[in-house]
Amino acid sequence: MQAIQEPSFRESVELMFNRAVALMELPPGLEEKIRVCNATYTVRFGVRLRGELKTFTGYRSVHSEHMEPVKGGIRFATGVNQDEVEALAALMTFKCALVETPFGGSKGGLCIDPREYDEHEMEQITRRFAYELIKRDLINPSQNVPAPDMGTGEREMAWMVDQYMRMNTTDINARACVTGKPLNAGGIAGRVEATGRGVQYALQEFFRNIDDVHEAGLDGSLHGKRVVVQGLGNVGYHAAKFLSEEDGCKVTGIIERDGAVVDDTGLDVDALRNWIGRHGGVKGFPDGTYVENGAAVLEHDCDILVPAALEGVIHRGNADQVKAPLIIEAANGPVTAGADEILRNKGTIIIPDMYANAGGVTVSYFEWVKNLSHIRFGRMQRRQEEARHQLIVDELERLSADTGIGWQLTPNFKDKYLKGAGELELVRSGLDDTMRTAYQSMREVWRGRDDVTDLRTAAYLVAIDRVATSYQAKGL
Ligand code: NAD
Repeated sequence: MQAIQEPSFRESVELMFNRAVALMELPPGLEEKIRVCNATYTVRFGVRLRGELKTFTGYRSVHSEHMEPVKGGIRFATGVNQDEVEALAALMTFKCALVETPFGGSKGGLCIDPREYDEHEMEQITRRFAYELIKRDLINPSQNVPAPDMGTGEREMAWMVDQYMRMNTTDINARACVTGKPLNAGGIAGRVEATGRGVQYALQEFFRNIDDVHEAGLDGSLHGKRVVVQGLGNVGYHAAKFLSEEDGCKVTGIIERDGAVVDDTGLDVDALRNWIGRHGGVKGFPDGTYVENGAAVLEHDCDILVPAALEGVIHRGNADQVKAPLIIEAANGPVTAGADEILRNKGTIIIPDMYANAGGVTVSYFEWVKNLSHIRFGRMQRRQEEARHQLIVDELERLSADTGIGWQLTPNFKDKYLKGAGELELVRSGLDDTMRTAYQSMREVWRGRDDVTDLRTAAYLVAIDRVATSYQAKGL
């Protein structure tokens, strides 16, 4: 149970913001300007379903317009409220600044349990919500560009972009009005996996910095590390899959809504995902031990804890019992401000949400650029690159034959070297570069300043400084 005096999500974000600005010398007026949420729009709309009119409540919050468009996901969940979307919008501002995507921060949400409606009903509801937002330029390629979040995905984005196109028939950039679309509706290769992929790249970069690994009380590489993941949705599934299949991690626990499954020898992530798809939960999964109280598995002995479901799951009530020396916040706000303090005091390293789950917005940025440039990445240069590589391979083989050295290029090398980069390779390369660069910018502050003792404060310092510079350049 969450402790009674726990601050709300927005208060938690504000407390973390305050910790950082206390270490900066911002003009007081500017500090307030950056702190506050510019506007939150609340809409209540009716949809006729199953013979009766049902009213839904939705929000779109704009935190900062120091850069436009503003960007941030739309969440479909029963717990959506103004406090939550404002907290998430603020996080988006700082996240975009940290990973250098040229956007202000925004977030939206609809109070709904998507599991209660069939596909046709969801389409009606989503289109109606999108209509309300489009009417007020809260979905617009140059002003406000939503993306998927909890409870939404490619399907909802496809409905939203289609709705925008119907209402803006002459807008040549219409497809750039939302990101996270299916490929055939203007999406980009690698967007679905992007946030989970970003979590993997973030951990890879962390493990490249051996001092940081030691600071967490760990050693060596990602190989063999025991990982517990909460939430096997878009973000958690991809993170767990890539970490286990590509980095040699052992996923020893997966927590879902109806409980958790644990296995010290490592769980088969795809098999469990398929099981959930067929049975609606983790219970009964044959290759692991079921734990009814899923939240208790957050306290399991492991090396890396990946909360990838929802906010506030690590709070004052359980922070002390969390054993993982390294937590990577794949979800937004999974650690409350109170828990953050407890964990910091006991030396747990937290890779903060603002950085850890920025893979989504990074690839969304690439998708938006693709939509505005109306051309697939790699289309112009891929074959030219392959032709140049072929020239080198031919020349090496000729030299080897002419000089009698008899070198042989391995077929594996040739296959890899000759292949020009397509859209997916370019997206992954851009994402990897972004995650490495942003980690180093945080790390420089974390390691370089005596008054900064954690990555979250460092992330806030980098981000707030960039937002402040942008406002100051405008003369504010
Ligand atoms: P999702 O809806 O695809 O997955 C969420 C998963 O968490 C589901 O499998 C759900 O069953 C599970 N879950 C819900 N309540 C739970 C509980 N109490 N205990 C355990 N599991 C629970 O959502 P997502 O897109 O993967 O988003 C997850 C988090 O990542 C959110 O905080 C979201 O804001 C953040 N995020 C998502 C993206 C993105 O690109 N999708 C980008 C950045 C951040």
